[in-house]
Amino acid sequence: VVEMRDGRAFSPRYNDIYFSNGDTVDSHRVFLEPAKVGQRIARNSLFTVAELGFGTGLNFVVTATEFLKKRSNPSRLRFVSFEKHPLTLLDLRQVGQRWNQSLPFVNQLLDQYPPAIAGWHRRFFEGGDIELSIYIGDVDNGFRDFLDRDQRGVDAWFLDGFSPDRNPAMWQESMLSRLHTLTRVGGSVTTFSAAGSVRRILQRNGFQLERVNSLPDKRHTLCGWLTTPSFKPRLHPSEAVVAGGGLAGCAAANALAKKGINVTLLEPTGQVAQSTSSVPTAITHVRLSGSRSPEAKRRLQGYTFSIPLIASILNSASTGVLQLDGTNAAHAQLRSIADTLGDWIQFVEADQASDIAGTSLSRSAAYFPKSAVVSIPDLCKNLICHPRIELIKGVLGHDLSLTTVIATGTTIPQRLALPPLEITTVPGQIDCFSTSPKLARLRTTVVDDGYVIPSSPSILTSGSTYEHDRWDPSYGTRTNRTRLGKLFGHALFRWVQRYRGWRCVTSDRIPIIGQAADDLWLSLGYGSSATTSALLAAETIASGIVGEFPPLDTHTLDVTDPMRFADRQKRRPNPFTK
Ligand SMILES: Cc1cc2nc3c(=O)[nH]c(=O)nc-3n(C[C@H](O)[C@H](O)[C@H](O)COP(=O)(O)OP(=O)(O)OC[C@H]3O[C@@H](n4cnc5c(N)ncnc54)[C@H](O)[C@@H]3O)c2cc1C
Repeated sequence: VVEMRDGRAFSPRYNDIYFSNGDTVDSHRVFLEPAKVGQRIARNSLFTVAELGFGTGLNFVVTATEFLKKRSNPSRLRFVSFEKHPLTLLDLRQVGQRWNQSLPFVNQLLDQYPPAIAGWHRRFFEGGDIELSIYIGDVDNGFRDFLDRDQRGVDAWFLDGFSPDRNPAMWQESMLSRLHTLTRVGGSVTTFSAAGSVRRILQRNGFQLERVNSLPDKRHTLCGWLTTPSFKPRLHPSEAVVAGGGLAGCAAANALAKKGINVTLLEPTGQVAQSTSSVPTAITHVRLSGSRSPEAKRRLQGYTFSIPLIASILNSASTGVLQLDGTNAAHAQLRSIADTLGDWIQFVEADQASDIAGTSLSRSAAYFPKSAVVSIPDLCKNLICHPRIELIKGVLGHDLSLTTVIATGTTIPQRLALPPLEITTVPGQIDCFSTSPKLARLRTTVVDDGYVIPSSPSILTSGSTYEHDRWDPSYGTRTNRTRLGKLFGHALFRWVQRYRGWRCVTSDRIPIIGQAADDLWLSLGYGSSATTSALLAAETIASGIVGEFPPLDTHTLDVTDPMRFADRQKRRPNPFTK
């Protein structure tokens, strides 16, 4: 909770201010200028800032603005930050009002601000040139995770927790004494606290410190430079191959290209989105369950990561999704999950749900206001619009001389030495019906055991079937027509067209994301939810290839590990082999 006191943002929890009256000036004077951040950004193709204490996000927006002014093209800014008690969106809005005139970045941050789910949250700005990763939770856990897994290093540390006497967790010796292990050549540390304890730890660990006179406050701050860095950034390949021009492959190509890798995208048809990803109407939605398992967390993180990214790629507006109570999660569960997710997901009673949908609904619902209806082919085409991606008509052979990502959907290349995978195909169908808007008006997608999408005022799309045994298409159409009947009773619907496709589904219904051998990565098995899983998977894989820490913690990543089936098959056979 933030209180405004005499024009300053104040935290009652820590009994301290977030920043003093100068706010953006403070950020420059304490953190950027002493460490010459602007000049160093201009010289580096990748500049990484790591900050202890995200707070109001002020240092991020100031640094991002400075990056845009000073950058040399092409270049990237990585900004990594840790926060145990993130501000609510409401509080952040209130505080951000002060700067949104001078720092247009504030509004972009507000649009993408993550919910208070523990773990990593990664966001992109300026087409991926600016990357923000916030760890929500105990700072020492997040910090350790970052130090253990990042192999690219930090150029500038900003120590910006509340003062050491009020928030000692942020200034622990166990953390400060490890900063140097990930600091690059020429690396700096800046901190508003000139406390003797902080100074001594940094000096003992190789930082040469100078006191900075922060007039007009007459308060000293510290700036330090690492004299003899031992950290060596990992070198990464400059080229990679991605096999498969579906959503998983296009997303992987895009994530790699954004990190500076030249990508050859191999696709047998020579065009993207020709297989399962040819589905013309898809929703970005995550099924809520009461579970707090790593897999449930991965799905939510995938959702909140993908929504703003897809909106920026397609330049599209959200149309919202209502998930009716009873589908995978009961009323009480929906309510408790929605409570923690801020403006991402809201719990609504039946009358409110009816107002949102524009039609009468008898059940309460979880409302996803940011969800959208997307054309997966359009998404694929936009993802590969990058000068570092070359789409080539061809099939992946068995010679893997370059780093390779396999994203071949339901067709697993046979001649490669892959770990055992448990994959099957599940057909599905969506149907479009025309109707009179007077009889069947719908403003937002409604998800029950399937979904109904308002594709246009007179076209409703209903889907999708999940066919363990392949159905006759007319049976699929009857099933989808029944879904309309549940919403609109006996209104008349005229069948227009259908789309059929084959989902790639794993034995545990969890995708396969990660490294299968030294230079071989897999991105497979997205079932019915590629739009909210494949982009985060692509970012995870691309981060691994270039040696940057991935946007998911290790527990969450373990769930999608390509090697998991090998262990299971020691105990039981592959359930999909008859
Ligand atoms: C009816 C239906 C409705 C759906 N609705 C939704 C929805 O609302 N929301 C959602 O998120 N998801 C939805 N999905 C799921 C989504 O469409 C898929 O999960 C996604 O498109 C799969 O993408 P992919 O890249 O993994 O596979 P694919 O799209 O199948 O791409 C794999 C590509 O690999 C290529 N390939 C194969 N072998 C090789 C090789 N040896 N070398 C190189 N390339 C190769 C293939 O030609 C193909 O183009 C739906 C699916 C269906 C069937």
